[in-house]
Amino acid sequence: MDKNIKPATIAAHAAGALDAQSGGVVPALQPSTTYLRDESYDLVRPDNIYSRADSDNVRQAEEVLRRLEGAEETFLFPSGMAAIAAVFRTLPHGSTAIVQSGIYWGTTAWIRDFCERRAITLIEVGADDLRATCQATDAALVFIETPSNPWLKTVDIRATADATEATLVVDATAATPILTRCLDFGADIVMHSATKGINGHSDVLAGVLSTRSKDAKTWDMIRADRKMAGAILGPFEAWLLTRAMRTLPLRVERMSQNAQVLAEHLLGHAMVDNVFYPGLPSHPGFATAKRQMAGGYGSLLSVLVKGGKEDALRVVGKLKLFLRATSLGGVESLVEHRHTIEPHTGIPENLIRVSVGIEDIGDLIADWDQALG
Ligand SMILES: *Cc1c(COP(=O)(O)O)cnc(C)c1O
Repeated sequence: MDKNIKPATIAAHAAGALDAQSGGVVPALQPSTTYLRDESYDLVRPDNIYSRADSDNVRQAEEVLRRLEGAEETFLFPSGMAAIAAVFRTLPHGSTAIVQSGIYWGTTAWIRDFCERRAITLIEVGADDLRATCQATDAALVFIETPSNPWLKTVDIRATADATEATLVVDATAATPILTRCLDFGADIVMHSATKGINGHSDVLAGVLSTRSKDAKTWDMIRADRKMAGAILGPFEAWLLTRAMRTLPLRVERMSQNAQVLAEHLLGHAMVDNVFYPGLPSHPGFATAKRQMAGGYGSLLSVLVKGGKEDALRVVGKLKLFLRATSLGGVESLVEHRHTIEPHTGIPENLIRVSVGIEDIGDLIADWDQALG
């Protein structure tokens, strides 16, 4: 496929994945763990030996993501956390990592524990102080998340890259490669929980890393670690992911439109104190988001309802279309009362995190109006 082909075309065609053997216009699912050799003991397919390293289904999904990111190489992992762990396992004993604070709680919790065990100096710093800390610190790794979950803080990727010599890794789960191509803004590695918007149907757990340079030392270590330590996505999950990504640009476009309209509506509602959404001009990260997000601001927003915990839980309980469940980026809208999940991390008791799906926006607004009513 030629280089100027646009994301919607790459995705719809699954980056050219077909089934040469049957002539099928979609790829076959190949679950075999091992691959044949012929009479002279040559591999029937030289690139297929054993499925911990070799799977056409995984390669097909990786190729779609690699092209969407504009990356040199892309690796899938069996979860977003496995992808993050693969990055942090490259850190030498005694080195320093700078990690944005107030990000996805699972990331923070795991990194704290890991860095302590490895004697890695962990500097956690808020989105607003990242640049100064990067300039003042000789770190091996800088890890940021934009837009962040659940505060929706936006970090200027280019400014952060310019402020550090360290490997810059960006968790862009809430943006997806459709809204932000992080490598174009100077990130060395971009990470996503593909469980969220990339798969978008709440039925696959997966993570992904893509690199700007496949010769980078850190990337070499990640490549070897994935193969040898075996954090591999299964072929069926990869096949489902390839299928789901055909509609990724469509889904992201509709979800972003819906989220923008809902955010604006809720911001003007008498029973709402505030709305965090990067697409609102009142949001502190709006200017940055506008610079580095194209085609929308994503499906994730947080709503501060008037009152306290009881009021937030009452609203959440009255919603009929927004399912009460964790996670985000699926075609069905979800709400979560984050304070119930992580009461110790300073999340406001009246905050409701919202993942907006592809439903009819009039229905979604009516649901919130009756719940806030
Ligand atoms: C969900 C999520 C993760 C973790 O991904 P899993 O696929 O659940 O392991 C990491 N970062 C962000 C921003 C997430 O939303």
